[in-house]
Amino acid sequence: MTSETFDVVVVGGGPCGSTVSTLVAQQGHRVLVLERERFPRYQIGESLLPSTVHGICKLLGVTEELAAAGFPIKHGGTFRWGSNPEPWTFDFSLSQNFAGESSTGYQVERMKFDKILLDNARAKGVEVREESTVVDVIEEDGRVCGVRYTDAAGERHEVRSRYVVDASGNTSRIHGHSGGKRVYSDFFRNLALFGYFEGGKRLDPPYSGNIFAVAFEAGWFWYIPLSDTLTSVGAVLLPEELERVQGDKEKALLGLIEQCPLIADMLSDATRVTTGVYGDIRVRKDYSYLQERFWKPGLVLAGDAACFIDPVFSQGVHLATYGALLAARSLNTALAEGTDIPEETAFSEFEHRYRAEYARFHDFLVAFYDMHQDEESYFWKAKKVTSETTPAAESFVNLVGGGASQEGALVDPEAYTARATAAQELSAAIDRRVEGAGNQEILNTSLVRSIVKEGHQIQIQAALGRSDRPTPPVRDGGLVPSADGMHWSLPTPKEA
Ligand code: FAD
Repeated sequence: MTSETFDVVVVGGGPCGSTVSTLVAQQGHRVLVLERERFPRYQIGESLLPSTVHGICKLLGVTEELAAAGFPIKHGGTFRWGSNPEPWTFDFSLSQNFAGESSTGYQVERMKFDKILLDNARAKGVEVREESTVVDVIEEDGRVCGVRYTDAAGERHEVRSRYVVDASGNTSRIHGHSGGKRVYSDFFRNLALFGYFEGGKRLDPPYSGNIFAVAFEAGWFWYIPLSDTLTSVGAVLLPEELERVQGDKEKALLGLIEQCPLIADMLSDATRVTTGVYGDIRVRKDYSYLQERFWKPGLVLAGDAACFIDPVFSQGVHLATYGALLAARSLNTALAEGTDIPEETAFSEFEHRYRAEYARFHDFLVAFYDMHQDEESYFWKAKKVTSETTPAAESFVNLVGGGASQEGALVDPEAYTARATAAQELSAAIDRRVEGAGNQEILNTSLVRSIVKEGHQIQIQAALGRSDRPTPPVRDGGLVPSADGMHWSLPTPKEA
């Protein structure tokens, strides 16, 4: 058995693993990623939020590559949900946090997206080994200090490291080493049945790249355009429907589509993909959970290894990459020469902020599933969950865009330097969209109109103010991001 030493070993090369490894390697540390599969590999989770695309991906330096990949641009979400029988749309550009060009997400084929991120990690100095399956964690005196893995030839290896990051997703086999259990949600016990179609219809521009989410009797459908012709279609079902998906999956999916006229209409000229990687109809269940502990000495859990909730707001990759950023700050702080911040303090900050972001989405989603409320009620729930002082519709857009954490690093740094112009463009865009809204009643509410009217000043103020403003800790005795956003610092008296 061979044995080597790294500063950090990251288990899993999905968005979480490639993000944390890149952000740590860029600080000069030796990082190894061990990935079970050979990329490109299939993964669900195709609808991305602006915070991932214009925040994390920009920090990673893959903006141009993503743009060149030609992924459909997502301006927001279109929902047939709640008491309103007509579909309604929200647009990320309503939020001052996602000003100008930073107000869009992408719909991605994860095979392509994840490979871009993993190749980028390699290019930024991370040692990446694919077809390398971690089978065990090495622990000595209560501290995790490495892993054992098997390579493609079945040969066993041992790697020692100061830290191990579990970014191995929902199938993680090492999360239990954190000393806590995986606690499954009582509320979100849904299951998902999904496949792919060629030739489905598109929503009208500019929202042809939006995710279309349609509630129906048995649950709700996602309809995600992955290219001009390819569409990801999935039904999220109540747990009572389990029996239905255990038999003929194709029959079950087509039967559900028939039950949902809006989705049936979108697919009326489409054919199901039956060959290749998109030819399978897949099922996922038991995907809403939270680890009791996110870290212990020598080990950090992030991404789906730590937590996931229901996919209705497409926040999985956001949570995974946001968790990766927080973990990277803690790792970089702990690995820094002569740091005056104890390990416990650095990793508690990571866990506190990560849990808070999870909790915001969780609480809001609980409210969102209460379909007896109309969309204004959802807005008000979002406001309550995020404790924001902005008008409620904007809180909603912030929350579903992944911007409620108030993390400067999650929004496009350049949009904050080019600020006034972007904010003014945003206001103009909102004006245009509201006036020509068609069936977008949601944007025509007096609430949103008042944002548009009030918006100019608030947006400009927020956009201009962020980088000059001290960032207060999010809790008493907490840490703040360093100026470069890649470590934690003790707050200055001005910030505290
Ligand atoms: P993963 O992407 O799962 O990556 C983990 C990696 O670890 C994998 O490549 C795996 O091969 C590797 N690995 C596993 N075990 C080992 C091992 N022992 N050794 C080495 N490597 C290992 N999110 C969104 O953002 N938008 C959506 O629209 C969306 N829709 C979803 C729909 C459904 C039905 C579900 C269930 C989830 C959805 N998600 C969505 C969530 C999204 O799939 C995940 O949150 C995201 O993939 C998490 O990224 P990750 O890097 O933590 O894990």
